[in-house]
Amino acid sequence: MFEEVFRALGLAELNSGVAGVEGDIATGEPASRSINPATEEPLPAVREASFADYDRVVDRAVAAFERWRTTPAPARGEVVRRIGETLRARKAELGLLVTLETGKIRSEGEGEVQEMIDMCDFAVGLSRQLHGLTIASERPRHRMIEQWQPLGPIGVISAFNFPVAVWAWNAIIAAVCGDTIVWKPSPRTPLTAIAVAGIVQSIARENGCEGVFNLVVGGVDLGERMIADPRLPLISATGSCAMGRRVGEVVARRLGRSLLELGGNNAIIITPSASLDLAIRATAFAAVGTAGQRCTTARRLIVHDTLHDQVIERLAAVYQRLPIGDPWDPGTLIGPLISQHAVETMRSALEAAKNQGAEVVVGGGRLDRPGYFVTPALVRARPEMPIVAVETFAPILYVMKYADLDEAIAIQNGVEQGLTSAIFTNDLREAERFLSATGSDCGIANVNIGTSGAEIGGAFGGEKATGGGREAGSDSWKAYMRRQTCTINHGDQPPLAQGVRFDISEG
Ligand code: NAD
Repeated sequence: MFEEVFRALGLAELNSGVAGVEGDIATGEPASRSINPATEEPLPAVREASFADYDRVVDRAVAAFERWRTTPAPARGEVVRRIGETLRARKAELGLLVTLETGKIRSEGEGEVQEMIDMCDFAVGLSRQLHGLTIASERPRHRMIEQWQPLGPIGVISAFNFPVAVWAWNAIIAAVCGDTIVWKPSPRTPLTAIAVAGIVQSIARENGCEGVFNLVVGGVDLGERMIADPRLPLISATGSCAMGRRVGEVVARRLGRSLLELGGNNAIIITPSASLDLAIRATAFAAVGTAGQRCTTARRLIVHDTLHDQVIERLAAVYQRLPIGDPWDPGTLIGPLISQHAVETMRSALEAAKNQGAEVVVGGGRLDRPGYFVTPALVRARPEMPIVAVETFAPILYVMKYADLDEAIAIQNGVEQGLTSAIFTNDLREAERFLSATGSDCGIANVNIGTSGAEIGGAFGGEKATGGGREAGSDSWKAYMRRQTCTINHGDQPPLAQGVRFDISEG
């Protein structure tokens, strides 16, 4: 049914899970297939990277780094500009492939490609702005500067739910910084990665920089190989907190750098002064959009006790009318979960919630059709229930009451994750309190906007068990470079800092 899309993106019945230079192909056995989560039908097959393939690819990334780091940054930006132009031209078919492999609705599939395009635009400008500082020296006739150098070949490990946007957050910035990239996508979404890697590889070839952008498809074994590999000075890893803990430990043991983008357990606070129309619409998208499979999905709703029942009633009415179905159908707002396992995880989280005294107001069932479709669940809960502290990667929204703002903020901050947070209020003092040092403890804090759907211009990431990494906009690029402090003496005396004397006599 979607053969044309596969053909247009250069995908065949069997595809190589290695890319980077023309003619290099994967040799892993046996070939595997991702599943279209809306139909449970297998998608075209993929041969994963073997360990030997992996070693070859990393050696290549090391060699390509030797050349790429001396290419002027604006020239690196020009390559990225061409990648962005090509992605623009291929947006519709790439977006559809994201939809087929992840189950995201069409506009979100295309939105993911748009995010890659936005990253390219951003990085082109950045390629002329990798600025350092000039610092006043305490010594006469001395000058201090801080400059930024390319870091090396970096490893990017990505999650299934943003199968290509997260690659772009990392790889596109790293490329203008002068790094080469070895990308291991989620084994659940290899085709989207192969299609993007194929496009990028041909642009790299046309521009004489093959080997800068590399792909190795594989699972945890391959990931373990990457994180222990001293040839990769930085590992940027996106996924669950459990995965991040492991990556953080292994990379730290070899004193490498890791940039971790892990799970969230994001909350929205609705205060008495909020515009409820706005809050309900924004909460619905944040809680059920992408079928609850965003790291930024709202999983907890903390509502002032005067509004609590009304908010539940209004949201329940919205939940009952949600168009759930084939994600490529333009009328659909909710597609499937990624797998049977995800459906079971949702079911057992709801069981646990009920055992802890929560009440499922609406949803939580499975559609009687092929595909991993569930009805989003709205659950009356209390903050002390252990289940509300867990990130279940499915559309479950736990609604809780609060009496005063301090209590709401304490509930919001009372989980181990710290990714995104939001408050709906028209009271300036409440908004500022939420954004103050004693307010939200998350990496992202929004006012009158839901928890999901960040723009690329800001630094994206979270605190605490979310890992502390920052990617995409602002000065996130610094994570992909080596900071160097340089002091230049243009006098004829060697004065020492801090007034230290070390006078020697010669002869
Ligand atoms: P996951 O942790 O199962 O896998 C993520 C990636 O890590 C995959 O490529 C996987 O193969 C790899 N991996 C797993 N164990 C590894 C190991 N020991 N060594 C090296 N690599 C390993 O996550 P998922 O189910 O694909 O994605 C959902 C999770 O990702 C959620 O927790 C979500 O919140 C999180 N996420 C976070 C962000 C963010 O920016 N903070 C963005 C997207 C997703």
